[in-house]
Amino acid sequence: MEPAGADELPVADRVFFGGPVITVDQGDRVVEAVAISGGRIVAVGAREEVLALAGPDTVRSDLAGRALIPGFHDAHSHLVLAGEVRRFMADLTSPPVGSRRSIGDLVEALRQRAATTAEDEWIVGMGYDDTLLAEKRHPNRRDLDRVSRDRPVVAIHVSAHLFAVNSKALELAGIHRETPQPPGGLIRRDADGEPNGVLEEIAAFGPVFSQMPPRPPEERLAAIREMAAVYAAAGVTTAQNGSTSLQQLRDLYALSAAGELPLRVVALPDVATAAALVEGQFRLDPAVADRFEIGAVKIVADGSIQGYTGYLSQPYHTPPADAVAGDGESAATRGYPLMPREQLQALIANLHDSGFQLAIHGNGDAAIDDVLTGLEAAFAATPRVDPRPILIHAQMARDDQLDAMARLGVVPSFFVLHTYYWGDRHRDVFLGPQRAERISPTGSALERGLAFTIHTDAPIVPMEPLRLVWSATQRRTASGRVLGEEQRIPLRAALRAATFAAAYQHFQEDRLGSIEPGKLADLVVLSADPLADPARVHELRVEETIVGGQTVYARYQP
Ligand SMILES: [Zn+2]
Ligand SMILES: [Zn+2]
Repeated sequence: MEPAGADELPVADRVFFGGPVITVDQGDRVVEAVAISGGRIVAVGAREEVLALAGPDTVRSDLAGRALIPGFHDAHSHLVLAGEVRRFMADLTSPPVGSRRSIGDLVEALRQRAATTAEDEWIVGMGYDDTLLAEKRHPNRRDLDRVSRDRPVVAIHVSAHLFAVNSKALELAGIHRETPQPPGGLIRRDADGEPNGVLEEIAAFGPVFSQMPPRPPEERLAAIREMAAVYAAAGVTTAQNGSTSLQQLRDLYALSAAGELPLRVVALPDVATAAALVEGQFRLDPAVADRFEIGAVKIVADGSIQGYTGYLSQPYHTPPADAVAGDGESAATRGYPLMPREQLQALIANLHDSGFQLAIHGNGDAAIDDVLTGLEAAFAATPRVDPRPILIHAQMARDDQLDAMARLGVVPSFFVLHTYYWGDRHRDVFLGPQRAERISPTGSALERGLAFTIHTDAPIVPMEPLRLVWSATQRRTASGRVLGEEQRIPLRAALRAATFAAAYQHFQEDRLGSIEPGKLADLVVLSADPLADPARVHELRVEETIVGGQTVYARYQP
């Protein structure tokens, strides 16, 4: 047993014993017991020695065969958006997540949402997947006009990179026949040139979101509180808010400072928020520092493979079923970057020079090329010790790109659940078998000794860290086939990618991510030992979630 550093160890507030303690420390040790005191881990080791720290008031938790692991550290998701989807949007997802199977189902779900919201509210739904609908196409403006002709209707694609909107929303967004195609986006059109309601990337985000009326603060905060509770129940002890507006930053901070969130938060400012931070528009009270941190600036380099907007070096396997001639630089070919390479590189250099850590979304290998070239140039021009950039998704990363990441100290964060939710279609529709086998190449990253993380990107898919870990070890598609056998990683590596490595990615590995003396007591009790049967780890339950020594979720009386 190693002491916490003090000569005299404190009496423990609580001790855990009677089940495997999977520490995810340097040596990946599994030990017998843990003691916590004052919100920190004070002792880790043999049962007898740890129990010696228990006094009359110490809570003794016999795991009775359950396992203790470090709390799940969210390497990439969108806490606020997930909360908004849950509270304010119709669920448009198809199996295995939801139940919509046709455009008619989407229309029905949006109608129900319309019936339960105020007349002046936009009708928004999230999560439709064109390739899982009977019609094998996106809903268009005529479909969505069936929901309402006088209220704006927005159906957000499951990738969140495309929106389908009705005529009223097009009108409010100021998009019409003469609107030119914006760079980094696409207004899809009918054969006769009318916008058909499907908007990609830059064509969707700004024009549509800027027109939506703001929601009342109490509603916004309630959505975040509710979602934080969902995360905590899933075993998440640190949540990320990937891409944070100034408003979201203020909301998250207010809740954290008031002690109203059960977990820690790392907020990644978007580019506009980063500029506001540089101007000093936001101040952080150091007293809240271990509950709330501002992390890397989030940049988006391309779109989504399943939206045909991920930027590939080679064409997509099959063109989209509803591709329309005259779509220009779209879909049918290689996808596209959200900004020209030179612009991306200038942005990277600028933010790096301002001292920010960078977190860059890149799915296609052509986008990843642009990102890596940009990082290399920025680091060469302004060297900095350990800039630790994050490549969010890195889905199509090639071997030569993983080598470059190792050289540049890039932490790839893989959305490995793509293999489960989209693997079958990645193989048959979007990428073809060869490229599909290699998506989210965790095996190759492990081989190179890269520090890498894995994430759910919630609300893109549900926040289920155990399914995430399972997916990295099994790579089974929804139909049960294995996609990319050689990219599977051992359970311990997958656990590390969802805990310690994620803390490392956030520069928090000195105090979070593993069960070691001196670290904050962020812990999860699992219903059984995950090492016993990695193929069934997704069937385990989170029984208790502990943040800073406090129980924030429990299925039983702790
Ligand atoms: Zn992304
Ligand atoms: Zn994301």
